[in-house]
Amino acid sequence: MKELFQMLNDPRFHLLYGVTQRFSTGPEPRLVRLNREGFKLVEGVKKKTLVYPRMRLAVHPSPQKGDAFSPIFGQITEISERSIFVEAVEPDEKLRQAADAVEKVDLAALPDRGADLAKILKGLGLNTRSLGQDCKTLIINGLNPDPGVAWAEPMLLTHLDNLKAGLDVLRRLSPAEKILLAVPKEMRLHYHDIEVVHVPAWYPASVNALVIKAVTGKEHPDGVGIVGLHNVWSLGRVARTGLPLIETVLTLGSYTHSGNYIVKEGSTLGELLHFANIELRNGDTLVRGGPLRGESLDRLDRSVTKGSTGVFVVEAGTIPPMEGHSPCINCGACVLICPARLSPSFLSRNAEFALHERNRAEHIDCCLECGLCGYVCIARRPVLQYIRLSKYKLAQADAAARLRELQIAAPQSPMASAAASPAAAAQGGE
Ligand code: SF4
Ligand code: SF4
Repeated sequence: MKELFQMLNDPRFHLLYGVTQRFSTGPEPRLVRLNREGFKLVEGVKKKTLVYPRMRLAVHPSPQKGDAFSPIFGQITEISERSIFVEAVEPDEKLRQAADAVEKVDLAALPDRGADLAKILKGLGLNTRSLGQDCKTLIINGLNPDPGVAWAEPMLLTHLDNLKAGLDVLRRLSPAEKILLAVPKEMRLHYHDIEVVHVPAWYPASVNALVIKAVTGKEHPDGVGIVGLHNVWSLGRVARTGLPLIETVLTLGSYTHSGNYIVKEGSTLGELLHFANIELRNGDTLVRGGPLRGESLDRLDRSVTKGSTGVFVVEAGTIPPMEGHSPCINCGACVLICPARLSPSFLSRNAEFALHERNRAEHIDCCLECGLCGYVCIARRPVLQYIRLSKYKLAQADAAARLRELQIAAPQSPMASAAASPAAAAQGGE
């Protein structure tokens, strides 16, 4: 496998970059756009509300999804189904006092563990799904997630206090008996309070399922969970400040420039690129996430979330653009490179013709979404995008089936049954 990637002759597939300096602080945004899909607004939060840093704006019904907070002093200019927009304002004394009054939570002094602790962390803006997963062994994935993303090395080498604080909380949160840290085998790291395991650092070795296999020697072993280094860093940030999380770490990169930054959640891509002096020219592709697994966007007013790992400008001509309906020529390159031993050409063709159910038999659920199939496709088919579409359609079908089962299982009252009957409807009884 390694030889195959080296044949691609792309040094970015090697996930070590020798970047060891601390992160730079990103810009103070003039506009933020926060995700509010599925969130319920806090009472009193509406258009024109003045807000301050770490003011709670919305709460998610899932116990594992962190609450949403304003990262800046500002005024809410718009609230849609999907976003909350905040424009920066110069704060008056009252707003400053409100920001200073945000209560700090001393996590170290609290006795809480497990689900009780997860509830507190949710209230501090942290997503806890992967942090509290049910497992006996928990692996921290310490590799740069995607080619081009370069924050893992400096995080491991220079943010030790933050990681240690994150690890202390993680030990109380996770039921795991053993926590391991997986790092590239070229890094000679030894921490006194955690066992370090060395794994290969050629993409796609950083994909969670492949890190688990490299550490345990098994595919899908029972009782093994995995969490990203990024999450542990976020946990440490909250543990050290005692304040809600309003930042993320990401790499801002282009062919000529790359840097790691701590940026405010909700910062728009346009402001971030301007701050990092990265120019976007005609024909370039703007990517949120890693260049292989991220999503290409057509608007600079899109923003970063707590989970964003990078923002990249892929220069025109570097990688030929995808062609939506370009036919598969059966070259087999995607099959050869797929680390999950799938047939991406079949999966993408089934998705293209809306034959999603056929993809179950093709084990689409085993796709790691590494993006290599699309990268090597000579016909420039959006293979990964087709696969994601199919997964989404199948998940929708499963959810609808579950709902039908629940409706059949739930006993209806005779009155409800009568009202729902065609005869009652015919009499205007609905
Ligand atoms: S994204 Fe493509 S190459 Fe990667 S696992 Fe899925 S099907 Fe295979
Ligand atoms: S790499 Fe592209 S053209 Fe070749 S088999 Fe796969 S989908 Fe078809």
